[in-house]
Amino acid sequence: MDENNISGMHIYYYYVCKRKLWYFSNGLAMESENENVKIGKLIDETTYKQKKKHIMIDNTINIDFITEHKLLHEVKKSRKIEEAGIAQLKYYLYYLKKRGVEGIKGRIDYPLLKQSLNVELSEEDERELESAAADIVKIISAALPPKFKSKRICKSCAYYDLCCI
Ligand code: SF4
Repeated sequence: MDENNISGMHIYYYYVCKRKLWYFSNGLAMESENENVKIGKLIDETTYKQKKKHIMIDNTINIDFITEHKLLHEVKKSRKIEEAGIAQLKYYLYYLKKRGVEGIKGRIDYPLLKQSLNVELSEEDERELESAAADIVKIISAALPPKFKSKRICKSCAYYDLCCI
């Protein structure tokens, strides 16, 4: 694993919880039975059905869908962990920019809330994502996950049993 293989999920989990990032990246999959994950899948299956969805690039980043004027869309269930969703979408803009795709913008869609949020990439974001990518490689290559720190989201996390019981 190096900085070129970092996916949007790595970035998302990095901002949600670094311990979750480690679990996810080290083959501990517990997401399939999680209620939030099931709701996310249902939203995916029932919204924006007319769009060509899940555009996989380089086998690394997976964009929900793209509309006119190079607008990348990321669909989220709620605004609860909005910072992580914004970072994930900025990472897609950053990843593509680094590979010569210019003039792209992003939008997070919250179909259940009937809301959306426009996202652009600044030079400061690029520096932050570069440093996050280096940090992610370090975290997931470690032999053990980062220490447990209780968070507001733990109760609804798929890894709750591993961390808290
Ligand atoms: S239960 Fe809490 S600490 Fe453990 S992985 Fe989930 S969010 Fe992170």
